[in-house]
Amino acid sequence: MSQDSCFQANLKSVSNALDELLSNLSIQTNTEYVAIEDALNRILAEDIITKTALPQWHISAMDGIAVDAQSADEYDQLEIIGKSLAGAPYSGSIEAGQAVIITTGACLPDGATAVVMKEQCSFSENSVTLPKAIKVWNHVRKTGTEMASGSLLLEAGNRVNQHVLGLLASLGYGQVKVYAHLKIGIFSTGDELVLPNEELGYGEIYDSNRYGIKAFCHKLGYLVTDYGLIEDSPEVIEQVMLKAASEMDVLITSGGVSVGEADHIVPILKRIGDLDQWKLAIKPGKPIAIGKVAGCQFFGLPGNPVSAMVTFDIIVTPALQKMSGGKVTQVMEIAAECVTELRKKPGRKEYQRGFAYQENGTLKVRSTGFQGSALLVSLVEANCYIVLDEECSGVVSGDKVNIQLLDSPL
Ligand code: AMP
Ligand code: MG
Repeated sequence: MSQDSCFQANLKSVSNALDELLSNLSIQTNTEYVAIEDALNRILAEDIITKTALPQWHISAMDGIAVDAQSADEYDQLEIIGKSLAGAPYSGSIEAGQAVIITTGACLPDGATAVVMKEQCSFSENSVTLPKAIKVWNHVRKTGTEMASGSLLLEAGNRVNQHVLGLLASLGYGQVKVYAHLKIGIFSTGDELVLPNEELGYGEIYDSNRYGIKAFCHKLGYLVTDYGLIEDSPEVIEQVMLKAASEMDVLITSGGVSVGEADHIVPILKRIGDLDQWKLAIKPGKPIAIGKVAGCQFFGLPGNPVSAMVTFDIIVTPALQKMSGGKVTQVMEIAAECVTELRKKPGRKEYQRGFAYQENGTLKVRSTGFQGSALLVSLVEANCYIVLDEECSGVVSGDKVNIQLLDSPL
């Protein structure tokens, strides 16, 4: 047994780690009302229930002629007595032998039971000839057929996306009750790190994690407080961790979580809070310090930029969703044919970066190349993870693999 595979035995599987994490989070209970214009990406804190039947009235699904279907066959021509337009309904009612011009979305006049498409009608002055045997409720959206009044459309815990937002507006919601924003703090650690735009000295690199993590949070609709770039000093890190923990619900850091000389996060977390989980069977991103400081949920992500982004995606994202009052749905994995050879040792679950595409009706995926965890380009070129289970010992071209699309909805 290689040294590496001996080591794997002490690692916790990603699914066990996630189960443990998700069952051990404090969930947001504060709520607020926001205008629907501001509700995008927020988590619903109320069930969405129809206040009226949908549609509320019998509505035409076509441009055409509204008639009484049962008596229409008795007449060669029907008298056109008016118009019912969307937003300007016909106020009278139809008698046998009569018809009303109607547009899509307009209310059916009283007495009308069907709509005949305009293209099937022949018009002469003030009258119309229709095809025979018109079916009752032809081209009509009958009241209540889409939803009965009082139906549950969407449960609390759903995230508001563009479709939910449109639905809320269609039901007449001007504002909606959502969970209050989580307070999320971030900082990065590392004496070698320099702010973008500054001149790099010997051995220095730019701090990219803080920007990537912050952007990831913003993309998911979270607000972030940035505690900056912190030097590798145990005293300073501890001070900032305590301050941030007292102000935030969640603190996410990067760097300093391994066992090197300058890796201070884990000993500090053990001293001032609790380290719940540390070494996971995940690649990239084996060391990730998960715990709590003074009631604040703590995530110490690895320093390598790909590891930081992947662990944020796989571990932190579902936790933030749950803490925000949201439902955590199962991540969708799709089978694809791998067209490149992938190297892997059994032991850890790997999230290799891939590019999926359709060819001759088959979903295929190729690796985005060098998988080093320092270089973000493998992620930038990717549109999916190639998810390789713990046991997998490599993939040859033509093998089926599971992929997880990047940017897939929660
Ligand atoms: P560490 O976990 O602190 O040992 O960092 C692991 C590797 O990631 C080192 O090569 C660091 O220079 C690099 N690294 C740590 N933090 C960052 C960051 N914020 N941005 C870019 N690279 C980083
Ligand atoms: Mg470091």
